[in-house]
Amino acid sequence: MRKNLKVLVTGGSGFVGSNLKKIRPNWIYISSNDYDLKNPQEVQFMYKDVKPDVVLHLAAKVGGIKENAEKQADFYYINTAINTNIVKYAVDYGVQKLVAALSTCVFPDVLENYPFTESDIFKGPPSKTNFSYGYSKRGLYAHCMAVRQQYGLNYSCFSPSNVYGPGDHFDNPESSHFIAALISKIATAKDGDCLEFWGTGKPLRQQLYVKDLCDIISVFVEQYFNTDKPVIVAPNENLSIKDMIDIAIRISGKDLSYKFNEKLDGQYRKDGSNEYLMNIVNYKFTSFEDGIKNTYNAYQKERKT
Ligand code: NAP
Repeated sequence: MRKNLKVLVTGGSGFVGSNLKKIRPNWIYISSNDYDLKNPQEVQFMYKDVKPDVVLHLAAKVGGIKENAEKQADFYYINTAINTNIVKYAVDYGVQKLVAALSTCVFPDVLENYPFTESDIFKGPPSKTNFSYGYSKRGLYAHCMAVRQQYGLNYSCFSPSNVYGPGDHFDNPESSHFIAALISKIATAKDGDCLEFWGTGKPLRQQLYVKDLCDIISVFVEQYFNTDKPVIVAPNENLSIKDMIDIAIRISGKDLSYKFNEKLDGQYRKDGSNEYLMNIVNYKFTSFEDGIKNTYNAYQKERKT
């Protein structure tokens, strides 16, 4: 692969994009202030201005469960418009390689066997709480596969599990994910407090440390990544919500208790296999314990400065 490759990153101001910038500062990072990717004309201007060799497509309307569930029409339109423009005009402007982010949320809500694999993607609908986000990402995958077939270009997709780490949306309860909310809850609690959490604490989740995802994306962009599979990027650890809370409280060093409100648990499990990924990148994932330590420390540092 050429050394001075011109890489355009959509969603460059987001949580993943801003972490990626720390390890790949020379790539070109685009936000909605630069171009509104819902608008076909602006996307064409972007490709004319930047003339990228590779597009890393991260831009999306992402949200927490509540926002996803309540604004299904907005999520469907915004994500479908962005994805369609990005892929269609990448082809028109001669982009040879495109690497696009899906999510493990695109996989079926219920499957017989876990961990699921790439070939399970269309074996049932995505979870009801994020069916718009899930279907728009399935559309992105279908579009990339169609381009591979019709034009023979290297357009490939990957599907990360839940991502957490420094720079997450800690202070926005509408769009924050479980780990971001957990960190900010613990960091702002006082010794002796009793924290309340949704559900039963039993569901299992794979939490992907953002630096790991960025390292893997760098390999996809700069080295080999040419596949018709929606490659699952997820660590082996599949911890219960209760285990994650226990670890996070322990590393905070605070004297806190907690209880579950037994409401709205979400899917019991949604773990994907990283076996296919390991054939492409043999990566050693950060343990949840180390990742949460770094995230908690980064959160504290950010709030002190
Ligand atoms: P994020 O923090 O919400 O960032 C979203 C990015 O998309 C921002 O840079 C935003 O720009 C940009 N964007 C949104 N609407 C746009 C528009 N109309 N025009 C131009 N840019 C627009 O998301 P993230 O967590 O970094 O996620 C990155 C990718 O990974 C997404 O595709 C997401 O689906 C996928 N993913 C994320 C997770 C996770 O847990 N975070 C898990 C699985 C998959 P502004 O800042 O200007 O608004």
